[in-house]
Amino acid sequence: TMSHAWGYAANNGPDRWADNFPIANGPRQSPIDIVPGQASYDAGLKPLNLQYDPSTCLEILNNGHSFQVTFIDDTDSSTLRDGPISGVYRLKQFHFHWGASDDKGSEHTVAGTKYPAELHLVHWNTKYPNFGDAASKPDGLAVVGVFLKIGAKNPNLQKLLDAFDAIKAKGKQTSFANFNPATLLPGCLDYWTYDGSLTTPPLLESVTWIVCKEPISVSPEQMAKFRSLLFSAEGEAECCMVDNYRPPQPLKGRPVRASFQ
Ligand SMILES: [Zn+2]
Repeated sequence: TMSHAWGYAANNGPDRWADNFPIANGPRQSPIDIVPGQASYDAGLKPLNLQYDPSTCLEILNNGHSFQVTFIDDTDSSTLRDGPISGVYRLKQFHFHWGASDDKGSEHTVAGTKYPAELHLVHWNTKYPNFGDAASKPDGLAVVGVFLKIGAKNPNLQKLLDAFDAIKAKGKQTSFANFNPATLLPGCLDYWTYDGSLTTPPLLESVTWIVCKEPISVSPEQMAKFRSLLFSAEGEAECCMVDNYRPPQPLKGRPVRASFQ
C-alpha cells in the first residue's frame, strides 16, 4: 500500500495509485493522448451549450492536490447541455493541473504534445440526486478540459491568481464571488470527446470527457504564480504545488470523436 495518502510524489504518485485504487488499470481511464488523425469526425455531435451564472460561484480552495473554485449546485443555474451528452449537467467546480516548468503540466496531450496546464470544469448529471451519487455512474459526470498555452497574459485568469495569497497552503479557502467561468473558455468550442474517468483517486470511470481543441493563453509570469501554491499545510515543510498531473493512460480501443473536420 501507499506510504501516505495519494499525491504526486514518487512514493504516492500516479504509478502507485493502483495499490489502493485498482480501477487505475481499468478499461476507461483518463487522461489519454489524443491523436487528431485517429479521431473520427461525428456530424451528430452538437455544439456545447454552456450557461454559467456568476452568482453561483462560492469559494476558492487549496485541497492539497490543486486549487478549485466551487459553485452552488442546488439549482440549474450553471449548466452544460448538448455536445456529446443528453440531459442537464450542473457545474460543481473547476480546477487546474500544471507542471514545474512550461514544457509539461497538462493531463491530456495532443499527438504527444504537452501543454503547461489544463483547466477542468466538472459537471454532474441531474438524472442523479447529487454530485456524490453521479460520480460513480457511467454517465454521471461531464468534464470540459481546456489547455493553457504560453502566450500573452490572460486577464481572465488574474482574479484567480490574485486569490492565491489567501489559499497558499493545503486546507485554506476563501470566498470567491461573482466569477464567470465562461471567461476561461476559448473562442472556438470545437472539441474531442471520449468516455473516461476521474484523473485523481478514486479514478471512477464516470466521465464523459470534452476536450477543447483551442487552448487559452497564459503568460510565463502567470504560470510562475500557479507554482507558488503549496501541496503542504501551514506548519509543514513547504512543498510547491507542481506536476499535479496524471500522465496519459492506455486507450484500450475506445473511440475518440471530434466535433469538427
Ligand atoms: Zn482535473
